[in-house]
Amino acid sequence: MDALARLGARLAEQQTKGLYRRHRMVGGPQQVRLQMDGRQMVSFCSNDYLGLANHPDVKAAFIRGVQQYGVGSGAAHLIAGHSRVHQQLEEELAEFTGYERILLFSTGYMANIGVLSALTERHDVIYQDKLNHASLLDGGLQSRAKMKRYPHADVESLRYQLKNEMAVHGLVVTDGVFSMEGDIAPLPDIVSIASDRGYMVVVDDAHGFGVLGARGQGSVDAAGLNKAHISAYMATLGKAMGTFGAFVAGSQAVIESLIQFARSYVYTTAPPPAIAEATRTSLQILRQDEQRRLRLHDNVGYFRSVAAELGVDTGRFATAIQPVRMPDVESAIGVQRIMERRGYLIMAIRPPTTPQPCLRITLCSEHAHNDIDGMLDVLTTTLKSMGV
Ligand SMILES: *Cc1c(COP(=O)(O)O)cnc(C)c1O
Repeated sequence: MDALARLGARLAEQQTKGLYRRHRMVGGPQQVRLQMDGRQMVSFCSNDYLGLANHPDVKAAFIRGVQQYGVGSGAAHLIAGHSRVHQQLEEELAEFTGYERILLFSTGYMANIGVLSALTERHDVIYQDKLNHASLLDGGLQSRAKMKRYPHADVESLRYQLKNEMAVHGLVVTDGVFSMEGDIAPLPDIVSIASDRGYMVVVDDAHGFGVLGARGQGSVDAAGLNKAHISAYMATLGKAMGTFGAFVAGSQAVIESLIQFARSYVYTTAPPPAIAEATRTSLQILRQDEQRRLRLHDNVGYFRSVAAELGVDTGRFATAIQPVRMPDVESAIGVQRIMERRGYLIMAIRPPTTPQPCLRITLCSEHAHNDIDGMLDVLTTTLKSMGV
């Protein structure tokens, strides 16, 4: 078989398995009422949990940033791309998270790759929850440390594995809120088990930052923990913050190590300064407009209680991510299609992204109870008609 024929065969196999991925096209801004492939839909699949992606103040800050700093950053952070506004955002995030220092990354994917490589050496070990985000798993594989995985949120198994572990230095790495299940990680147990061995704990809080905790500081704060327990706290800015990029919070030594050793930090162009200006405004809104977070949590609670009344099995935790498990890929895709025809956008998630196919429903501060009622009504009818 020649090279192109081999690619063709692999692509055909993906289609047969029902795993083929395709682009959809969004016409207007990212918001609950979304124009998708030319049609108006009610979206339940965005990570823009606080409705900041199209917030007038965030947009105005972005435009102001462009006027002041232009568009491109022109260089890597360590060459000539680190602008004053990047620095200001880092300082403001340090204050908000309570960490000594912050480092901005271009994306969360790159932050995770950088953290896991920069904080380990050969002969070290990295323990990861089996359902951690793909970027953490890739980061572990790219590092020189040995990577081991423990069953999802299974602290007894982690305890047992660490008891028998020979490596002197190691990391325990977990999502704060798991991106597909919406579960909150058992952080206090993980911290206590890791600290018995002197291992560092790394948390990826892409779905917790801006959402959990009394002030939106994330899953670590919500668990009553802080910088004394979590050595590197990563969060993304493209989700609840509504902009783009990511940051890592840590001690001076951790952040300096990233600057020196994280290749995904050193060898890439700094994000546009205007993005940092927009994010500063998002952060300000997060600090001042508590109502957004309260509305999000109200919607999560409302969704969970109505779903329970209707007999729909949702996530185990009250986070913005609420999966509805499906018996197989075909029914997951079938339900997604029918929902779409009725004007509701929810995503079927297939292996290998999750072990079991599911419909991933995400809630946002900008949903009305009405939207949730309408979606659940169509969903229950559809599930019943399909015998699921
Ligand atoms: C989205 C996500 C990332 C990647 O962040 P990007 O900024 O989109 O690259 C990393 N970890 C988790 C858990 C995520 O959900």
